[in-house]
Amino acid sequence: MDTGRARILGDPGRALLVGDRMARGCELCFPGLKAVIFVTGLCDDGCFYCPVDRDKLGRDVFKVNEEPVESVEEAVLEVARQGAEGASLTGGDPLARPDRTLRLVRALKEAFGPRFHIHLYTSGRYATPSILVALDEAGLDEIRFHPTRREFIERVALARKLTSMSVGVEIPVAPGMEEWAIWVIREAERLGAEFVNLNEMEFVAPNASQLMLRGYTEDPMRPFTVKGSLTAALKVLEWARDNTGIPVHFCPARFKDAIQTRNRLRRLASLDARWFEEPTGHGTVRWGELRSPHIKPDVGEECGPHVYCLPPNRELLAAAARLYGGKAVIVEAYPTRSREPVVSEEEAVV
Ligand code: SF4
Repeated sequence: MDTGRARILGDPGRALLVGDRMARGCELCFPGLKAVIFVTGLCDDGCFYCPVDRDKLGRDVFKVNEEPVESVEEAVLEVARQGAEGASLTGGDPLARPDRTLRLVRALKEAFGPRFHIHLYTSGRYATPSILVALDEAGLDEIRFHPTRREFIERVALARKLTSMSVGVEIPVAPGMEEWAIWVIREAERLGAEFVNLNEMEFVAPNASQLMLRGYTEDPMRPFTVKGSLTAALKVLEWARDNTGIPVHFCPARFKDAIQTRNRLRRLASLDARWFEEPTGHGTVRWGELRSPHIKPDVGEECGPHVYCLPPNRELLAAAARLYGGKAVIVEAYPTRSREPVVSEEEAVV
């Protein structure tokens, strides 16, 4: 079959693509412009390769970029803090909590407008016709099915028939799963999906023992990924290039962590820095603290009991410590709301 798709584009460190386009949701993920909303950890699938932390999986946890939130309204505020231009709704399975998911989609569209792009991952288990229609009416732009069972892939046709959403399929690949991936791509194309994403299989603490039981190991050259996952994906991409017309995109695990997440943190650090904080190039912020238990200094902002925050300037901090007494430190943290330090107290002393 001549599909006219002569090449696999890209590089294995960033992305590989067969076809002329990738999903809109992926275009915004690349530069870290999407908020990752963990809608719930509830999920009835139990995939052996599930990389979700076990303190979240199976629990009704609600987070935005790892920040716990208690309500849809708080989630929207957290998305605004990040200055995101879209959101990815994930879990667990967001459709295990359809009411929360629908309220969230509506609230995000209301707060940020119709151009704010939202995509959602689901196994398809709970994707009934009425839920699909409700998601479409709420404003969901893109739905990605991760079919954990053969019959769930039929939801692609249902979503295409009943809604105007962009519909795709996303699965991980590892050695031994090539035939499954090829079957999924064939079915996705037959049922009218617009794209297929192949993910490099992650090898992380939550799934390591299950993977090792099946004979998988970590790739020493590509940390936190299953050895052979890239080779398996390449085989599938070559098959797709020669046999299908549907766009197929491979997303390396390292790309997600090293580039998307860092871009998102960098952006958040520059948007959310307080006057005394300095964003670093690697997605953290730094600031100085004068911990002065006896005298209240007339410099800095009081940001805790006997703690006065200042720009992270060593000379300034040392001078303030001489003048007012106490200890001067430079603190570095990810731009989370709690600003949990990433360097130890000893390292931080000026
Ligand atoms: S469907 Fe997703 S969240 Fe649920 S077990 Fe599988 S990989 Fe994990």
